[in-house]
Amino acid sequence: MKVLQVSAEIFPLLKTGGLADVAGALPAALMAAGCAVRVLLPGFAPILADLRDDTTLAELTAPWGDVVRVRQGVLTSLGVHAYVLDAPQLYQRAGTPYEDAQRQPHHDNHLRFALLGWVAAQLACGLDRHWQPAVLHSHDWHAGLTSAYLAFGPAKGRRVATVFTVHNLAYQGVFAPIHFYDLGLPAQAFAVNGLEFHGQLSFMKAGLYYSDHLTTVSPSYAQEIQTPEQGCGLDGLLRVRAHDLSGILNAVDEAVWNPAHDAAITAKFEAKKPAGKARCKAALQQALGLAVQADAPLFGVVSRLTEQKGLHLVLAALDALVARGGQLVVLGTGDAALEAAFTARAAARPEAVSVRIGYDEAYAHRIFSATDVTLVPSRFEPCGLTQMYGFKYGSLPLVHRVGGLADTVVDCALENLADGSANGFVFTEFTQQALERAMRRALALYARPTEWRSVRQRAMQQPLGWDQAAAQYAALYRQLVAS
Ligand code: ADP
Repeated sequence: MKVLQVSAEIFPLLKTGGLADVAGALPAALMAAGCAVRVLLPGFAPILADLRDDTTLAELTAPWGDVVRVRQGVLTSLGVHAYVLDAPQLYQRAGTPYEDAQRQPHHDNHLRFALLGWVAAQLACGLDRHWQPAVLHSHDWHAGLTSAYLAFGPAKGRRVATVFTVHNLAYQGVFAPIHFYDLGLPAQAFAVNGLEFHGQLSFMKAGLYYSDHLTTVSPSYAQEIQTPEQGCGLDGLLRVRAHDLSGILNAVDEAVWNPAHDAAITAKFEAKKPAGKARCKAALQQALGLAVQADAPLFGVVSRLTEQKGLHLVLAALDALVARGGQLVVLGTGDAALEAAFTARAAARPEAVSVRIGYDEAYAHRIFSATDVTLVPSRFEPCGLTQMYGFKYGSLPLVHRVGGLADTVVDCALENLADGSANGFVFTEFTQQALERAMRRALALYARPTEWRSVRQRAMQQPLGWDQAAAQYAALYRQLVAS
C-alpha cells in the first residue's frame, strides 16, 4: 500500500519538537509493516541539502501565484523517497521554520504551509504518474489543508484515504479571514462545516473536518481533546467525529535512542549491564560543576520551556528537592520568563542546579544517560517522548497524570512495585504539593538501591519500539482503503 506522509519537520533534518521525531521514525517502521512510504516536505535548507539523486517532478504555480519546483529524490539520512517543495521565497528564512529571528510568526505562514497541503493533494491526484498514494497521512496544522484541497480537487483524488494526526491541538494555524481568498479554495469551505473558526480560518480545523480519519498520539489525549478543558475550542467538532478518532501511542526510535549504541554519551550501558550509567552521571556532574556525588539523586528536564510543560511547578518545588539532597539539570529554550527563572536558580545554587538555555540534541542524550529521574510535569501532554527516552536510558520518569504520560508511566506505589508494573512516579493534582509528594516518593525509592535498580531495569526492558504503533497505522490504512 502506497502511503504519502506529509509533515513540516523530520528528524534528523529539521526538528522543533516531538513531531519531527515521529515523522522521522514512522517511514521505516511503516515500511517494515508492509507499506510503501514516501514523504512530502517543505524545502527548508537542511532538507534540500540532504536530498540526493533528485530530479524535478513538476513546476507548479500555486493558486496565489507562488511558483514551486517539486523535486523528488532520496533523503540521504533516512533512505526515504521524498518530494520536496523547492520554493526559496517561502522557506529560506532566518529564524525557526515558523518564526522569524524576533520570535514572531512569519507573516505568510498561511501560504508557506498551504503549499504543503496543496501539493499533497496534487500528488494524490496523479502529479507523479509513476507513484500515486492510496493514503495521505498528514501531521499537525502545517499539513491541515491537505484533505481540504483534496475534498475540492479533481474527482479521482477522492479515492485516496486521508488520515490526519494531531500532535498538539494547542497549535492550530489560525489566520485572519482575509487570507482565505489567497488559498484557492471555494467559498463554501469558509463555513462552520469547513475551516472557519470563530470568524478566522483554521488549518487545524480543516484537517479535523475534511480528513477521513483522525488520530492523536496517545489514547488518553484522544479522549481529553473531546472535553471543553482540553479541546482548545474544537472539542465540539471532535465529539461529532468521535467515531473516526483514535489514539495510537508514539514510540521510541531505537536507532537514535539506545544507550547501548549511543555515540553522544560518556559510557554505553544497557538494562542488564548498567555500570556505564554511573560513569555518565559522574562525568556530567563534573562537567557542569555540580557536586560529584554518586548517591545524590539527579533529576533532569529536557523540554521546550513553555506554559504547557508545567515547569513553574518544578521552580516552586526546587528548594525542597535540593534541601533533600537532590540535584537538577535543565536543558531548554522558550519563554523568556522561564528561561530567566531557571537561570537565576542555577546561579544561586551552582553545586546543585545546572541550566543550559538552548537546543542541543547531543546534550539531551547526555542528560538522559546521566540522570536518575526525568521530570515531565506537563499541564497537558499529547504523548510526550522524553518520558520514554527516560525509560530507555534508565532515568525514571516523574510525570503529571495526563495524556500520553498517563498512558505510559505507572507510579511506584506499593501495589505496583509488588506486581512489577511500576516504572516511574505519577502525580494527579496539578499542584506544587502533589509534585513534591511524587519527588519524595522518588527519593524514598532511590534510598533503597536494590528496589531502585530493579524498577530501573524493568523500565529499560519495556518494549518501546515503533513496531506496534506502525502495525496499528497500517491496519488503519488498510481499513480505510477497503471502506
Ligand atoms: P513537544 O513535542 O511538546 O516538544 P515531546 O516530548 O513530544 O514534546 O518531544 C520533545 C522532543 O524535543 C524530544 O525529542 C526532546 O528530547 C526534544 N527537545 C526538547 N527540548 C530540547 C532541547 N532544548 N534540546 C534538545 N532537544 C530538545
